[in-house]
Amino acid sequence: MPKVPPPHPLLSAVPEWYAHGLPHIWLPYTQMATTPAPLPVRSVLGSRIVLEDGRELIDGIASWWTACHGYRHPRLVEAMKAQLDAVPHVMFGGLVHAPALRLASRLAALLPGDLSRVFFSESGSVSVEVAMKVALQYHRLRGRPERHRFVSFLGGYHGDTLGTMAVADPEEGMHTLFQHVLRKEQVVPLPSTAAEVAEFRAMLLRERDEIAAVLIEPLVQGAGGMRFHSVDMLRAIAAACRDADVLFIADEIFVAFGRTGAMFATAEADVTPDIITLSKALTGGTAPLAATVVREELADAFWTDDPEDALMHGPTYMGHALGCAAANASLDLFESEPRLVEARAMETRLEEGLGDLRSLERVVDVRCRGAIGVVQLEHLADVESWKQALIRAGVWVRPFGNIVYVTPALNIPDEDLTTLLEGVAATVRTLAG
Ligand SMILES: *Cc1c(COP(=O)(O)O)cnc(C)c1O
Repeated sequence: MPKVPPPHPLLSAVPEWYAHGLPHIWLPYTQMATTPAPLPVRSVLGSRIVLEDGRELIDGIASWWTACHGYRHPRLVEAMKAQLDAVPHVMFGGLVHAPALRLASRLAALLPGDLSRVFFSESGSVSVEVAMKVALQYHRLRGRPERHRFVSFLGGYHGDTLGTMAVADPEEGMHTLFQHVLRKEQVVPLPSTAAEVAEFRAMLLRERDEIAAVLIEPLVQGAGGMRFHSVDMLRAIAAACRDADVLFIADEIFVAFGRTGAMFATAEADVTPDIITLSKALTGGTAPLAATVVREELADAFWTDDPEDALMHGPTYMGHALGCAAANASLDLFESEPRLVEARAMETRLEEGLGDLRSLERVVDVRCRGAIGVVQLEHLADVESWKQALIRAGVWVRPFGNIVYVTPALNIPDEDLTTLLEGVAATVRTLAG
């Protein structure tokens, strides 16, 4: 008989589907032998998660930062229902459909410069893999195959596949287990002073003949620890890449679509990357979809009369029509509703709700940017007790490493935001006061 995780202490009765399925499911990043079993969800709406036992939690992290308009926004639901009746999905090899082409042209129009060639995939990790392959193949096509190493930054996270793990922070990342089989990429400290930028620039100039691209999460490094850097620093790093003639890949999977208060973090800094990756909030948290958008100048290199020069990638569910329809509806919402204004205004509310925690001895830092609020502690001794205390406070927040963070829906109702911040603050005061 397959094993089951220990029962969740805050659950009494569970539905039949839960008891039947639990022995067969493998959960993410979880030691299932010792971690309490997950909570069964009955429904979601707006910023709320309704559990099977009827309890409601305020969602403080918008399902890993995806549900930027809240759950089941009527515009997204309508668009997906209509798409379901026409083309739920059709293969993208040799066939195309309106939602994907519409989405591609809209992304091209929204993104700066000649970032205008869109490759769709079904997850963030894959979109980064595609970005890395585009960079490698681009150099090969330009007769410089020796440019095949990647430079990325400590504290970064770019996905869970073998290629993307190699560019994540080797210590902070969840990937130390696989170091022995990963490509040895160069993961360097993110510069924070003019001298460090100069050092970074000198390194690029010295080693550029071997470097395929620099990869960065612009303005906020998300899953690696919610660290911020300034617009000026992002500009300086991009300028160093340009001066050294090294490709610059912006992984905006966490930040894009309003999280920092701008549509794109690189646009906030007036930086045009050579390649940008998008996913997470692309479909407003409804369907898996990702996009790798490449500057036309790079894409041109693939445009020859040799079939072998084609970009060699093609996910089965590429350009998923339901996801593209949702993404188009999400972009409509960014046009018709003040999402970016809401995200920028949230920074003040987060600061008001969390700022006082700075005075606690075991709180190392509180930082807020756009719709991201982070409380950094010395360490979280027992993450599980934190998780349960937050649930008891009526909020869904997932601490990791040494941080407790919130990234709610950009349009979270004010009273829900109040409940969320009070729940987080009270929990921090109790467990770290
Ligand atoms: C989540 C994330 C990824 C990976 O996306 P998946 O859809 O989980 O594969 C890559 N980069 C960043 C910055 C992310 O936040």
